[in-house]
Parts: sequence; C-alpha cells; structure tokens
Amino acid sequence: MRDPRYDILFEPMAIGPLTAKNRFYQVPHCNGGGYRDPSAAAAMRATKAEGGWGVIFTEQTEMHHSSEITPFIELRLWEDKDIPSIAKMAAAMKTHGALAGIQLAYSGINGPNMYTKEVPLAPSALPIRTFTNDPVQARAMDKTDIKNLRRWFVNAAKRSKLAGFDLICLYGAHGFGIFQHFLSRATNQRSDEYGGSLENRSRFAREVLADLRDAVGDTMALTLRVSLDETIGQLGFSNAEVRDFIAMNAELPDLWDLAMGTWEDCSGPSRFKEEAAQEAWVTGIRDLSPRPVVGVGRFTSPDVMARMIKQGRLDFIGCARPSIADPFLPRKIDEGRIDDIRECIGCNICVTGDMTQGMGRCTQNPTWMEEWRRGWHPEKIAAKGESQSVLIIGSGPAGLEAARAAALRGYDVAVAEALETYGGRVARERQLPGLSAWGRVADYRLYQLGQRSNVQMYPGSRLSAEEVLAFGFEHICVATGSTWRADGVARQHVVPMAIHPQMPVFTPDDLMAGRIPSGRVVVFDDDHYYMGGVLAELCAQKGCDVTLVTPSAFVSDWTANTLEQSQIHRRLAGLGVAIRLNTGIAAVQAGGVETSCTYTDARGLIECDAVVLVTSRTSDDSVFLDLMARQGDWADAGIRSVKVIGDAAAPAPIAWATHAGHRYARDLDAPDLGDALPFRREVTQIED
Ligand code: ADP
Ligand code: SF4
Repeated sequence: MRDPRYDILFEPMAIGPLTAKNRFYQVPHCNGGGYRDPSAAAAMRATKAEGGWGVIFTEQTEMHHSSEITPFIELRLWEDKDIPSIAKMAAAMKTHGALAGIQLAYSGINGPNMYTKEVPLAPSALPIRTFTNDPVQARAMDKTDIKNLRRWFVNAAKRSKLAGFDLICLYGAHGFGIFQHFLSRATNQRSDEYGGSLENRSRFAREVLADLRDAVGDTMALTLRVSLDETIGQLGFSNAEVRDFIAMNAELPDLWDLAMGTWEDCSGPSRFKEEAAQEAWVTGIRDLSPRPVVGVGRFTSPDVMARMIKQGRLDFIGCARPSIADPFLPRKIDEGRIDDIRECIGCNICVTGDMTQGMGRCTQNPTWMEEWRRGWHPEKIAAKGESQSVLIIGSGPAGLEAARAAALRGYDVAVAEALETYGGRVARERQLPGLSAWGRVADYRLYQLGQRSNVQMYPGSRLSAEEVLAFGFEHICVATGSTWRADGVARQHVVPMAIHPQMPVFTPDDLMAGRIPSGRVVVFDDDHYYMGGVLAELCAQKGCDVTLVTPSAFVSDWTANTLEQSQIHRRLAGLGVAIRLNTGIAAVQAGGVETSCTYTDARGLIECDAVVLVTSRTSDDSVFLDLMARQGDWADAGIRSVKVIGDAAAPAPIAWATHAGHRYARDLDAPDLGDALPFRREVTQIED
C-alpha cells in the first residue's frame, strides 16, 4: 500500500496537449548503445515503462547530419530510414501508459562531425568545444543557415511524430545543444538580430518553437532543456539570465526542463554532489512561468521528491541515474516497497558507457543494457533449475549479488564471509572521503537477503578448500576478492620496483584498515581511477604533507569517464596536495622516491617519510585454485561446479563485480552454450 505522503507524486499532470500519468519523469540519458544497439536501447526504455515512469525520454538524438558528436554513440534521425529503429523505442516507452519523448539535438559548437566530415555550424565562429579538444572550428551561421536549421528541426519533428513520440525536448543544456549556444553570450557573439540582447539571443529558440508548434504542436508537447547556470561566470548564460529568459518567454515551451551547467556539473558523482544539489538554483523559477517545471538532482528518496513538489520547487521529478539504478522506482513507491528501492550510489559508472563507446553498465543494476542482449529483467528472474544448493564464499559486491539473484531464483544459498562485517571492498571503501553512498551496494543486497528464508549467512567464516569439500553444496562460487599490491607492479613497473626496506610503504588496504602514514607522504598513483586521488585526500585530511605522483598527464585520469576528474584535481589542489604529473617512480629509496619523467626519463628526488602505492591488485583466488587442484574429490563431495567471479577472477571496478555476480546466478543450471556468443547482438544490415 502506498504511503499517502507520496500520493502527490502520482498525480496526473498536463504537459501541453497531453497528460502524464504521474510526476516521474525520466529525463534524456545516454547509454552507450544508441544507434549501434537500437533494440538493446529500446528494451532498456521498456523496463522503465513497466517500472511506472510517467514520461520517458530517449538519449540525445542527432537530428541532422551536419551536426554529430562522433565518437559518442547517441541516436540518429537524419533521414526516414532512421525512423523504424527509433519507432521501436517509442513503442517500448508507451507499453504501460507513459508518454514517449525524443530529445532532438543539434550540437553546434559541440559537434566536431568526425563521421560526416561536414563543416560544423554554430552561432559564432569558434573552436569546437568537446571533451577531446578536437582541432576543428565552427563556421558562423548566416541567415540562410539559420533558415535551413529551422527547417531541419521541423523535418525532425515530423519524423519524430511519425515514429510515434508524444513529446519533443529541444536540447539547450550542458553546453551540448544549439539553443544554449544561441542563448549564451560566450558562444553567441553575433551582431545581428540573433545576438546581443537577451531578446535577440532568444530569437532562435522562439522561432524554432513557433515552427514546431505549427508543424506538430496540435498533438505533441514541446519542452526546452536549458542549464540553470552555464557555470562560467557572468559571460555565460547565468542563473540570473536564465530567470530573465524564462520570465520573458514564460509560455514558450509546454514544459521547462532545467538541467545544470556542464554535464559534469549536472551529473556530479555523489563524492561531490548531494541529492537535490540544484535546489537553490531552481527555487523560484516555477513562479516565473505558468508552464510546469522538471528538474534533476539524483533523487532517490521519495521524501525528498515529495518535498520538492510540496514546496513548489518542481512539478516533475526528473531522474536519469536513479531510473537506471532502479527502473522500478515509481512502482516500488506506489506499492509501498520503499526498502526495495535499489538506490543509485552516484558512482557514474553508467556515464562510462557513453564516454568509452562501450555498453552502459550500472554498479547497482547489473541488468541495465542487458535487457535485450541477455534477456535480463531488473525484477524478474527464471526459477531455479534442477540443482538445489549454492555456497558463495565472500560477501563483496560479487558474492552478495550472486547470492541475491540465486536466492531469488529459489536456490538454497549460503554465504560464508571471513570477516565479521559483510560487504567486502564496499564495507571498506564506504569509509573513505566522499564514498559513503557506495555502501548502498552492500546495504541493498543485505536487506534483500535478510528477507529470504532460503539464505543462510555465515560471518567470521574464512573457508578453506578442505572445509568446502566437507560441506556438500552442489555449486561453489568463489568471490573472495583481491588485495592491493605492495611491490609497485602496475603499468609503469610490470615487475616489482626497487623498494628500500627502510622506507615505510603503505597500500590502500593499509589505509582502509586505519594504518595512516604521517609526515611527508608520497602517494604514487599508477592505477588511475579514483583510489589514488581519494587516498591523497584522506592523507591530507589527516594532516600529512602530501605529494601525488602519477605517470599520467592527469590526476585520477580515468575519472574523466565518470565526470569527476576536474573536481578531483580541484579538491586536491584546494587541500594543498602537491601534484606531480607525467612522473613515475624509478625507485623507492630510504629517504624519498627517485622520480622519472614519463617522457625523458629525467630523474629527480622527492624526500618523504612514507610512500603509499596505489598500483594494482592481486586476486585472492587460493581457495579456488585449491579446489581446482582437487577436482577428483568433487563427485564424492557432491560438487557439480566451482567458479571464480569478481575481483577474485580479475580485479576491476565494483560494477564489474555486481555484473559477474548476477551473471553467475543467471547461468546456474543453464545449458552450456559451447562456443556460441553469450548475448544477442544487432548487426548492421548490408545495403544492396
Ligand atoms: P568482489 O569485489 O569481487 O566482490 P571483495 O574484495 O569486495 O570482492 O569481497 C571479497 C570478500 O571475500 C571479502 O569480504 C573477504 O573478506 C572475503 N573472503 C576472502 N577470502 C575468503 C575465504 N576464504 N572465505 C570466506 N570469505 C573470504
Ligand atoms: Fe547510479 Fe552508479 Fe548506477 Fe550510474 S552506475 S545509475 S551512478 S549506481
């Protein structure tokens, strides 16, 4: 039964000529699949429909070939030929009464056109602004270009309607969409009637919205997505100007979709941004226009959502990441199943699908983007097969997810954990600065396991192969994790580095166990994800004089993919951490580290009292290896299978471990596929 406090979230709401069945609004979000994997992307949206969202959007859809953002994989609507694949997505969105929205993007100053080789067009002639600083400039649009672009929007709108969409979102946020490029003085330096005053800079948006209203506005709702502040100071489209713009054009779209700053600002990880982080920026905007307002803020708490509506901040609760982590979030609130919500942890692994052109992954929801490929549903799973019992060794993300999913299938599940605390690496990492929300990976799963009578948990049970053979479980899942190396082996050093025994050397495991160095500390980061930066932050907080040394050109290099690299650098610089980029460590000496330039191998010395090595990890797979060595004893012990998963198989981010755990449970008693591909794939149709 739904808690009446949340009734307000389920009120139907008008958007232009249409009515959304509730206030849950899945804002546009990328997924890595896009035009390359249209059926996978469509099936992913279908789970949101089933999960109760009132409005569901596509990712950004490139609406004309003269503006595209290769290498990033979004959707395309360049010609009629593109209609069937996006129509499949629209149909999937509408299966449970949701409104289907398409986000039309013309990337302007953000589109380098690496695929189409067209000259980019933008309000003013400036270098293309992308993550990769492509060496390309845009040509300033003349009046004919503007007229053409208006017509292209109309063409795209008509195709969207044909494809079955209900809403069109015009993208003008995050520095990515041309509407912002016209609205901001930073990117619009024109001297004609499209530049200068706010009135003039708004002209393009007014014209396109008027064109679309004529073309499709009788049946479709039109929304405009802008950032609440461009976050580049007064020259940019600031919060004050956004308010002026909305007040001046109060009835322009059917709904205001308010994002924030750049994508990094808008989708900041939980390490840097709290839930509802944009509240101050959005407060009061609803009073400027009669049109409804949607905003985002990694909303996972129904209390916060209800408050945002009751206090008049928003009309719709916009979610991207919370809808990825739990596509069934609205339904769970509706059914009074608040404790079952799989809360987003704000790690931004989902973003890496887009950033790496890989396939989207979610740490919390391993079924994300596997709905079509592998037939995985976020809430449903096949009943168990012929065997009965599973022993899972290790309660990290891999073990807990394997246990949760296997238990859901109906197996008798036992989880043995060496320590008194469950959660593995997550139990440790949640104690680090800014990472407390990551604990939800364990909390969600432990709660689910606690609800089931077919699960036995055994803390304080460090198992040996001998003990496992004595127990009589049919399936053994080894999820025993990994340990950080203390010998410097990673990328710079593929064999142990020279380390003087007089220098105190610490690993991340030491620091997470509370053994903190003191004095002058060198943190050597040859891992390049978050750990080096987090530990530099921790040591600085504890009063150490910290120097971060990395062979990379960037602090925490890979976190560019999780949209936090610049924030990490800023935070460390703010804490007074000395940052030495493009620098390796040739040797750890008694009184300091001998550095080596990545490019010239020029040597230097940093004197220090301790070294923290953030390099690589070794799998803790001894139980697995011991069991494999005793394969001859399995039949007598009743063992049908022994598998190693997660970090114990090969160390990787937490999302890899939850994926491995989930896959393990799905594969129990499944037929052997032999050499066949273990997932479905969409292959481009060859033209005649
Ligand atoms: P993953 O990310 O693959 O889930 P973790 O390192 O987070 O790996 O978790 C592994 C867990 O397994 C840790 O909590 C660790 O204490 C536990 N563990 C390791 N060896 C054993 C063992 N022999 N018996 C039981 N638990 C173990
Ligand atoms: Fe949230 Fe992380 Fe999942 Fe993204 S990957 S939805 S940030 S839990």
